Amino acid sequence: MEIAALYVHLPFCPYICPYCDFAKWAFTPTAARAYLRALEAEIDRAPLVAATTLFFGGGTPNTYEPQEIAALIARLRARFGLREDAEVSVEINPDLGLCERLDGLREAGVNRLSIGVQSFDAGELRTLGRRHWRLRSASSSSAPAQRASPIFRSI
Ligand code: SF4
Repeated sequence: MEIAALYVHLPFCPYICPYCDFAKWAFTPTAARAYLRALEAEIDRAPLVAATTLFFGGGTPNTYEPQEIAALIARLRARFGLREDAEVSVEINPDLGLCERLDGLREAGVNRLSIGVQSFDAGELRTLGRRHWRLRSASSSSAPAQRASPIFRSI
């Protein structure tokens, strides 16, 4: 059987950054749920491959609830034989509110984070329309990494 690394795109974001060129849409619960249902159907009929790793990119994958990510991981494991100890990564937006979900993501089976930080300069982040500049006043610019490091094996 063919061996593959899985990439799953979760395109919804809580806000749209003006510079962004990725495939993304503004989050609405209805659209995000409909996308999940379509994704599940596509997974179920995808060609069988033996998956070695899994990466959720976006968009802002941590816009979804950890339970929804857990259900997706379970479905992908069942379909593609992903091992329990395989690397499972999620690209996260380090907005403070969304970082509340890190524990839940770990429990969902995620063991690696890719944190999307464009700059630690508040002025540059404002120019880009990124909102995680607020992290600087909330605690420090590296707060998401500090928070995540005891939870995940790779950041
Ligand atoms: S959060 Fe990321 S994917 Fe979403 S609009 Fe901003 S840069 Fe694009």
